[in-house]
Amino acid sequence: MYPHIRIDLNKLAFNTKILTNRCKQKGINTIFGVTKVLAGDMESVDTMVNSGITHIADSRIENLAKFKDYSMPKVLLRLPMQNEADEVVKYANLSLNSELSTINCLNTSAKRQNSVHEVILMIDLGDLREGIWFKDFNMDTIEQIINLNHIKLKGIGTNLTCYGGIIPTTETLEQLVEFKHKIEDTFNITLDIISGGNTSSLHLVLIDKMPCGINNLRLGEGIVLGRETAYLEDLADLHQDVFELKAQIIELKEKPSVPIGEIGVDAFGKKPIFTDKGTIKRAIVALGKQDVDPDHIKPQNESIEILGSSSDHLILDVTRTDLNLGGIVTFNVDYGGLLQVMTSPYVKKVHV
Ligand SMILES: *Cc1c(COP(=O)(O)O)cnc(C)c1O
Repeated sequence: MYPHIRIDLNKLAFNTKILTNRCKQKGINTIFGVTKVLAGDMESVDTMVNSGITHIADSRIENLAKFKDYSMPKVLLRLPMQNEADEVVKYANLSLNSELSTINCLNTSAKRQNSVHEVILMIDLGDLREGIWFKDFNMDTIEQIINLNHIKLKGIGTNLTCYGGIIPTTETLEQLVEFKHKIEDTFNITLDIISGGNTSSLHLVLIDKMPCGINNLRLGEGIVLGRETAYLEDLADLHQDVFELKAQIIELKEKPSVPIGEIGVDAFGKKPIFTDKGTIKRAIVALGKQDVDPDHIKPQNESIEILGSSSDHLILDVTRTDLNLGGIVTFNVDYGGLLQVMTSPYVKKVHV
């Protein structure tokens, strides 16, 4: 059945084990396995759970609800919406937060459910996505949080390289460790988790430059695609092809490389541009923008060129291949592509 995303669970287990072991050797004693790109795919999540992660972390509460039977602690990565506080307390042991009034809502829900909800307070060290701006950080906020009876301040964390593209450095993350010491000294408490970021912080672990005191990372892309995201390097001993997208050729014909007639706009209102390569062998593959944006996929066979796509058709130049009608084309996906194909109900998930 095509199109499908082929998920190699052995390779996923291997990547998870190698990365979690390496982190644990360097003092990163909790690793949030970030599952959000998997869109709740249970086989993949199960594989990660059994391969060394210590927490299941997802950005959607619907996914965490699906994982409710795992005894492993669950983390909500995206800041909670206030109107989902009940579900957050019910399905997540821990959530990342930056708004005191939301933490108050969580406290109210936790009180009603007779439980204690753990929070990691996010501090923005410059990337300008979530977190209290580091210059505005003050002990009043901490005091108000630790005075809540149904909230436990589990730790602090930061997120980098998501919006501003800021690359984590030892100096940047040392600021987080300084905040930790200030909080612990002021209130005479211990913060269990100091979360130094996502896959983009991994390079610091690998070159032994992670500041002492950072004891948690939240890893998604590193595990699923086997690459680090500060300098976009493949991680040498990991698999980059855990996920492969496969789609079928439904038309294969020799046609010109430039359309005939007056050129208006394509199906998406854009004016297309063509290079004349003469007559070429063109394949139409049953895969379209409704499945994945072609900018996020790459044919494994490097002699295939993507010419364009519409909602349901992907057009390839296959002149330099011996592909046939009905043949299968395999693509590598990047993070954005994986997110789309895992989310699309039209792309089947095949586990091997
Ligand atoms: C997505 C996300 C992560 C994981 O990012 P990767 O680059 O895939 O490792 C970590 N933390 C937060 C808050 C996220 O939203």
